Amino acid sequence: MSRQQDLDKIAEEIRVCALCRLSESRTHAVPGEGSPRAAVFCIGEAPGETEDLSGRPFQGRSGREFTRLLGLAGLERDKVFVTGINKCRPPGNRRPRRDEMDICRRAHLDRQLAVIKPRLVVLMGGVAVEEMLGIKGRLRDVIGRSVARDGRRCFVTYHPSAAMRFPAIKGVAERHFRRLRALVVG
Ligand code: URA
Repeated sequence: MSRQQDLDKIAEEIRVCALCRLSESRTHAVPGEGSPRAAVFCIGEAPGETEDLSGRPFQGRSGREFTRLLGLAGLERDKVFVTGINKCRPPGNRRPRRDEMDICRRAHLDRQLAVIKPRLVVLMGGVAVEEMLGIKGRLRDVIGRSVARDGRRCFVTYHPSAAMRFPAIKGVAERHFRRLRALVVG
C-alpha cells in the first residue's frame, strides 16, 4: 500500500471512530490533511466549529493565520501535514480531557506519524505539548525550542489561534516560524 492509501485508511477509521465521548457530539471528525511525503508534520489541538462543520483542519481565521505563519517558514500548506491531538470537536471548544487526548493519539495520530515519518514535528500550543512531551502548564520552558522525543525532533510554538488573538504572542510566533525555516532546510 502507498503512504496515501495508508493515510486514507486511517482517515476512514477516524471518520467513524467512537472510541471516546467526543464522537457523540461531533458533526464531522477531522482526520487532518496534507502531503503523505511531508517533512514537516504540524499538530494543533482539536477541531473548532468551522472544522467540525467542514471536516477539514485549520479553516477560517485560525486557518488563515496558520497558512500565513507557515509562509514565514518558507512552507506551503499542501507540502506539510496538519492535524490535531484530537480529531473531534470538544463541546463548546473546551480543552480536551487527558483520556480523550491519550485515546485519540494512540489510535490515530501515532499511526499518521508512523506512515509519514516527518523530519520535524511542530507542536502548536499547550495541548500538543502536554500530550506529545508530557509537559503540562510549563509551555514557557520549551516554547521556541527544538526538543528530541521518542526518536523524533519536535519544535514547540504557540497555537495559531493564540497568535491571532494576542498581539504579543503574534510577534513571538512569527519569530518561531522564521526560525523553523532554518530547521527545515538544515
Ligand atoms: N487542531 C486544531 O488545533 N485545529 C484544527 O482545526 C484541527 C486540529
